Amino acid sequence: MAQLGKGKLNYRCPSCFMRDLDIDMFYNKDTGIYSCIRCQFRGTEAEVLAGNEDVRKKYGAMYRRFDKFDFD
Ligand SMILES: [Zn+2]
Repeated sequence: MAQLGKGKLNYRCPSCFMRDLDIDMFYNKDTGIYSCIRCQFRGTEAEVLAGNEDVRKKYGAMYRRFDKFDFD
């Protein structure tokens, strides 16, 4: 796949990141499609960014301390 290279930015694969894997993606200049080097994820820059927003939901409360639980 000689036409694939790194994009201007190195995006992390949102699909792999959901599984706590930090994987770079290849960029196809001709189609503008990013593709993961490990899984089957492929998508446009907008789709990659939207995927990264989803991952942020998982880690959104990372710095928040939970000290009140409603179920007790
Ligand atoms: Zn991936």
